[in-house]
Amino acid sequence: MRLVLVGPPGAGKGTQAVFLAAHYSIPHISTGDIFRANIKNETELGKLAKSYTDAGNLVPDSVTNEMVRDRLTWDDAQNGFLLDGFPRNVAQAEYLRAILAEKSTPLDAALEFSLENSEIIRRLTGRRTCRGCGSSFHIEFEKPAVDTICDKCGGELYQRPDDSEEVIANRLSVYADQTAPIISFYRNEGLLITIPALGEVSEISTRAIAALSAAVN
Ligand code: AMP
Repeated sequence: MRLVLVGPPGAGKGTQAVFLAAHYSIPHISTGDIFRANIKNETELGKLAKSYTDAGNLVPDSVTNEMVRDRLTWDDAQNGFLLDGFPRNVAQAEYLRAILAEKSTPLDAALEFSLENSEIIRRLTGRRTCRGCGSSFHIEFEKPAVDTICDKCGGELYQRPDDSEEVIANRLSVYADQTAPIISFYRNEGLLITIPALGEVSEISTRAIAALSAAVN
C-alpha cells in the first residue's frame, strides 16, 4: 500500500497514520515529525526548518522534497509507505508523482480526512504532544493518566509552539491557500478517498480501512 493522508492540521492524520501503518505493515513517514526531530537535535536541517514550523509556514519545497525523496529510498519503504503531512501543495504532489513514476510505483490512494474549522481549532488548542515519542493527547478528549506525562513512553507532554491560537490561524490559512488544492489534484488522478474525521478514534480507523479496502485492490 502506497498512501498519502490529506486533511487540515488537527484532523487526526497523525493518530490514524500510526494505526494504518501498523495495519498495512508499512512505515509511517511524517514530514512534521522529521522536522521536529531535527529541530530537537539541532541539526542543520532543523535550524533551517525552525523559523518556518514555529510560524506555521511551509518549509521550502526544495528542502522538503529532497528530504522525502531520500526517506523513500530506505529499505522499509520499498514495499509501501504512508506519507503524513506530505504533499502540502500541488508542486510537492507533482514532485511525488514524478519520483514514484521513475520507479513505476504509483500511489494507491490519497485518503482525505474532512473536518470543520471550529472542530479543528478545538482539537489543536487542546493537543499535547510527547517530547519523547511524538504521541498526541488531548486535554479533554484523550487525557493522559497524569497531566504532563505520556502514557506510552513516560516522556514529557508539551504544547507544540505551532498549536498556539495565533499560529493555528496561520496554519489554517496556509492549508486553505496552499494545501487544499491537492484535493482536486488527487480527485483528477482518480486517487481521492474522502472520509469524515468526526467521531471516536476507533470509529474513524474502521471507516478508513473500509474506504481503503473498497477502493484499493
Ligand atoms: P505537521 O506536524 O504535519 O503539522 O507539520 C508541522 C510543520 O512542519 C508544518 O506547519 C510546516 O512548517 C512543516 N511541514 C511539515 N510537512 C511539510 C511539507 N510537506 N512541506 C512544507 N512544510 C512542512
